[in-house]
Amino acid sequence: MQYTRRIFWRISRYILYMRNELAWYAAYAGCISSMVVLFCAGGFVPLRTATSWVSTQAQSAAVFFVTSITAVQIQNQYRTIPITYSAGAAATTTAPVSRIRILIVPGHQPTIGGTEFGGVWERDVALEIADALAGLLSQNPRYDVMVSRTATEWNPVLQDYFDAHALEIDTFKQSLALQMQNHLADGSILPAADQVYHDTAPSEAAFQLYGINKWTSDNGYDITLHIHINDDAEHRTGVAGKYSGFAVYVPDHQYSNAVASKTIGEAIAARLNAYHATSTLAHEDVGVVEDQQLIAIGSNNSASDAALLIEYGYIYEPQFQESSVRSVAMADYAYQTYLGLQDFFKDPLSTTYGSIAFPYDWTKVTAKKNEKGPAVYALQEALHYLGYYPPVGKNFSDCPVSGVARACTRTSIVQYQRARGLPASGLIGPDTSAALFRDTAQPPASPLSFN
Ligand SMILES: [Zn+2]
Repeated sequence: MQYTRRIFWRISRYILYMRNELAWYAAYAGCISSMVVLFCAGGFVPLRTATSWVSTQAQSAAVFFVTSITAVQIQNQYRTIPITYSAGAAATTTAPVSRIRILIVPGHQPTIGGTEFGGVWERDVALEIADALAGLLSQNPRYDVMVSRTATEWNPVLQDYFDAHALEIDTFKQSLALQMQNHLADGSILPAADQVYHDTAPSEAAFQLYGINKWTSDNGYDITLHIHINDDAEHRTGVAGKYSGFAVYVPDHQYSNAVASKTIGEAIAARLNAYHATSTLAHEDVGVVEDQQLIAIGSNNSASDAALLIEYGYIYEPQFQESSVRSVAMADYAYQTYLGLQDFFKDPLSTTYGSIAFPYDWTKVTAKKNEKGPAVYALQEALHYLGYYPPVGKNFSDCPVSGVARACTRTSIVQYQRARGLPASGLIGPDTSAALFRDTAQPPASPLSFN
């Protein structure tokens, strides 16, 4: 099936290439919009039917781009990849060519770009999540995973592609931009209203993102995950901004890769939302946000695979800023992303707390004021799992899983202690840690996979 799809991609890429070429010639001939409509909507159509067909199509806005990938298509592909299990060894597949191809793109460029707060760079934190996620996905023989860069350089496969295909990437980028302009001008694509403001990508970064979209398409990739940490554009230097929480960006619903991307985005958002607040910024607060202009997820209809851009939180939030918390928090984001993908593929983990941070040795935490680190992070998540964090009357935006013990943690422990008939000290002593051991001894069963 994958092989058939690759062939299909090659053919459709060729059509796209021809379409681009024709669009350029057509532009000179002054008939671009009809040509673009014709080829965008349905590939080659006999010319004699084109005129009436085009006018019919022009009446139905927002159905211009042919669906390039569906959720069912990749879910079925996942299910049919044969797996071999042998005692004492990792599961393998006998059909590596049919694996689900996932590209993980830690946001921004090696050594350049992205936001920074308190000496913590987005591009480094994004890489930490990306590598942890790649590690988890690589254990599943159904996935073929690649990470786009290290801290210092692009993956050589991509670097070579950028170098060897620079002209084609530029043509791809310009041609799609021109087609989009024409679609917007003739009303066949509707502009997205109320978009969240994003910084414009510098031209080199834009070239690389279009290059990635072209490369994933040329190579039959199924999913691209862009990993970012958000920032509040208005906050003053050195002062934390107003907003917090995660948001998952997916392509505008008019784009070819929209539906599969959104379905995956919703599955990942549901897992992140188990332990983290959705963004408090207007328009991001829906959790899964459609966007027409982010190149990463296919602006100008430039991505064929399912593409998502996850903003895991705001850079000034404590889980990014506290060095003692960051590793566990980033591993946890990666784990929740992985769980979301498994849910999407209908192959969920059989038992999980939905967090990688606990079970924990509860004798190693007291939660005294300002205590911080993996133990406090685990405690906050365990208390949340048990229904006591955030405490009554508060939400995750007031009381995030931060890994730092302050009033939220204390109140939450008091409420837990009262519910268990323990002295309400607000600190974890022997009785409370014993209760936590009992309450978190057994992860809940979730639906078994089809394996
Ligand atoms: Zn970013």
